[in-house]
Amino acid sequence: VERTKVVCPFCSVGCSFYIVSDRGRYVSVEYFTESPVNEGAICPKPNDLSFLVSPHRLTKPMRRTESGWREISWSEALREVADRIRDFVSKYGPDSIGFFVSVKMFNEEGYVAQKLARLLGTNNIDHICRRTCQFPTIIAGKECAGVGSITGTFRDIAESDVVVLWGINPAETFPILMGKYIMRARERGAKIIVVDPVKTRTAWKADLWLPVLPGTDVALANAIMHVLIKERLYREDFVRERCEGFEALARVVEKYSPEYASKICGVSPHLIREAAYTMARAERGSIIWSTGLIHNHQATDCCRALYALAALLGWYGKEGTCVGGLKGQNNVEGLVHMGVAPTALPGGYSLGDEVNRKRIAREWGVEDLPSAPGTNMLRMYEAIDHGDLRMLYIMGANPVLSEPNTQYVAEHLKKLEFLVVQDLFLTETAQLADIVLPAAAWAEKEGSFTSVERRVQWSFKALDPPGEARPDLWILVELAKRLGLERFFPYTSPEDVLREINRVVPSYGGVTPERLKSSKEGILVPCPSPDHPGTRVLCRDRFGTKSGKFVFKPVEYVPPPIDVSSEYPLILVTSRVVGMWHTRSMTGRSSYLVERWREPEALVGVETAKRLGIEDGHRVRIETRRGGIEVRVRVSDKVREDVVVLPWHWGANRITDQELRDKDSGVPAFKRVPCRIVVVGR
Ligand code: SF4
Repeated sequence: VERTKVVCPFCSVGCSFYIVSDRGRYVSVEYFTESPVNEGAICPKPNDLSFLVSPHRLTKPMRRTESGWREISWSEALREVADRIRDFVSKYGPDSIGFFVSVKMFNEEGYVAQKLARLLGTNNIDHICRRTCQFPTIIAGKECAGVGSITGTFRDIAESDVVVLWGINPAETFPILMGKYIMRARERGAKIIVVDPVKTRTAWKADLWLPVLPGTDVALANAIMHVLIKERLYREDFVRERCEGFEALARVVEKYSPEYASKICGVSPHLIREAAYTMARAERGSIIWSTGLIHNHQATDCCRALYALAALLGWYGKEGTCVGGLKGQNNVEGLVHMGVAPTALPGGYSLGDEVNRKRIAREWGVEDLPSAPGTNMLRMYEAIDHGDLRMLYIMGANPVLSEPNTQYVAEHLKKLEFLVVQDLFLTETAQLADIVLPAAAWAEKEGSFTSVERRVQWSFKALDPPGEARPDLWILVELAKRLGLERFFPYTSPEDVLREINRVVPSYGGVTPERLKSSKEGILVPCPSPDHPGTRVLCRDRFGTKSGKFVFKPVEYVPPPIDVSSEYPLILVTSRVVGMWHTRSMTGRSSYLVERWREPEALVGVETAKRLGIEDGHRVRIETRRGGIEVRVRVSDKVREDVVVLPWHWGANRITDQELRDKDSGVPAFKRVPCRIVVVGR
């Protein structure tokens, strides 16, 4: 029996634990108490990894035929995929193909996937989290502070005097962050402020709960800034020395008195003032957010407003401060750094940055790389409609359930001339593929993940993959060989790829395989050289903007283009539960988790339930412009009366709307969908 250290494959906190195995077969999980991140604790999801030994794992490549799936050999499958790629590229150009990558891939795999796309001549490569959650934070972070990551670490959150949790419910979605860091801050006497339309398990622990109307966060943030400026409670020295654009900000927030903003956001003027005073008293504080802030029609503006609020408070560049949006999946941060994006290269360089584009090209052994922006994931559907995109290669993602309006997504994938899906299971997306390639799970291979606090850690191989399932890296390298690109992919291991990343991505220059594999705590990037200790706090002396100063980007509240009406009078907010993960492709196949989290429950306010004549346990149909979904109801005094909350893991995206989006990032407004409730059974 062996114990092997792995990094958790679910959320981006970066917990590690041991997998106990017997001759390559999964036995159990054991706690790794020396982990600096989770100190042995883990949440329910990795406690049940029985999905790894599910009889439904894919074990052979398969081709769709008229009479159903037919198993084929790897060489047949790879030859067919390579032939079709070559065919599309020569007939219609490289932009007729696209790659859609899972953010559970190791850094090394994501890096190789984007390199393959670019060497084929296209920037059509994207991943789901970029388009459904993190992009507004990145846009706003780059504009205001010149950063795309959170500016501190979890330890800084624990050392804050005030922790503002805005549209984030870590008790359910990042449980170890809540239990180990936010609660530690609270025990030290820090004040916790939660902004959420629901009194979540996180809000129970808060000193102040601000029950904001979904999608009106800009008005609330502007009102808090109004109080700070009007009452001269902001850090004038920090603003004078390290920021620019303050006058414009002051002009915009002038009209957002707590009384005015309260009419928009539904939070009482008294609570708005109390929040502003509590924040102003703290020398060191953190503001972190997640999808509750971002899944609305003004997502990027919301992030601009929160970056500005933190700057007024002087909460940048020192220990005990941490500002930014938490990316959800375990390696979103890493794949951003690896350039898995249609508009950014490894290291985050824009395609228009000729010096770095050519430097990377030279490193790869070619003269230049494609410089035209690729088609992002959301545009891919339009590109399919126009006949511009003909083939899609999806690795480990399940857009049929994770994108808004399931039917719209499935219809478009069916229109493709060729669809390849590489995954562990025959997911809802894989069922639409022409070729399915069986992939190894994360514990059946090795490589590095970068957690949301920028901590790079190595996850070791604990198990053998079932049947002929293969690591993504192996599959991509074998495919590259069949495409005649062998000389560009001379890798025999993930370590070989990481050594190339050390040369190509400056902030990973010191993240060598040797250092990473022998380190318990991992390395905080940026870490530019092997003797560099890693970076805990960003923006210490200067911001990453052109001028080195923080740039205020004032924003006005704008009502949503599609709003509640007499037909759809309530707001549907999609949510998550601690025991399930995303589209349930893994957790939905883990027996204990399925037993405990059987079905979704819609949370409905007490008065709303009374008006509709429904009680706990009744079945209702939640209807939107896109259709309806039948669920059981739980009546609760912890939710605003104008809001219905529904966990999305069980297919709630059947009724979310692909037309409701943030104008700057395209992120769907999953938490601001007009809906109604129809009673179907008591
Ligand atoms: S908090 Fe996140 S990383 Fe930690 S055990 Fe839970 S899912 Fe895994």
